[in-house]
Amino acid sequence: MITSALVCAWFDQSGISSLFTSLIACALLITLLFNSHDLAFLDELTGLPGRRALMNELKHCGKYYCLAMADIDHFKIINDTHGHLMGDEVLKKVAKMLSSNLRHIDLTGRWGGEEFIMILPGTTAEQGQEVIDRIRIAITEVIFTSTSTNANFNITVSFGVCDSQLASLNLKDMIAKADQALYQAKSNGRNQVVLHLEAADIATFT
Ligand code: GH3
Ligand code: MG
Ligand code: MG
Repeated sequence: MITSALVCAWFDQSGISSLFTSLIACALLITLLFNSHDLAFLDELTGLPGRRALMNELKHCGKYYCLAMADIDHFKIINDTHGHLMGDEVLKKVAKMLSSNLRHIDLTGRWGGEEFIMILPGTTAEQGQEVIDRIRIAITEVIFTSTSTNANFNITVSFGVCDSQLASLNLKDMIAKADQALYQAKSNGRNQVVLHLEAADIATFT
């Protein structure tokens, strides 16, 4: 609208309409690029990077980093008891707690459903386990109020953590190891951070 008004005002200037038409085209192109980037890389509900963005980021986060996989405990029961909309609120709050309690260089993204991945560059699995355990405790202290029943409730999250110190670990292996440790955390009773060391040597924080 602004450019149209300017074209009308300066109509006697030569080349004015083609100049402003080009400007409009550029503005539209830039808007389109930003929108398609957000659509492809950001999770709509939480605003966090989605799986595609995480995979991209993991390729560029350096040689040494800690990777944590988080999964909300008994999330299906939360949905069933308090409704899907309340479930969405829980997802948004957990996303905020996970991302806002890390350093600026760390990254949290939504892996899918009620699962999140956290990437902590230059951090060992042991250091990551300590940091993430503090976040785990903070999450248990959040009181949610159900929009459907008005009842208060708490939630817990389980985590699997590993690091890239073993040179043989590629991206797929890292995710598999964090997932194995997460599986262990669930088997151990949930609400804990399990560190993947070696298959026979798994450390747990509760
Ligand atoms: P566990 O402790 O073993 O992880 O159990 P769980 O109930 O958390 O896991 P399960 O895989 O059985 O259920 C996950 C649920 O998450 C089922 C699915 O409907 C729900 N879910 C996935 N994405 C969303 C979403 O975007 N919003 C809401 N409200 N629910 C979602
Ligand atoms: Mg899950
Ligand atoms: Mg779950």
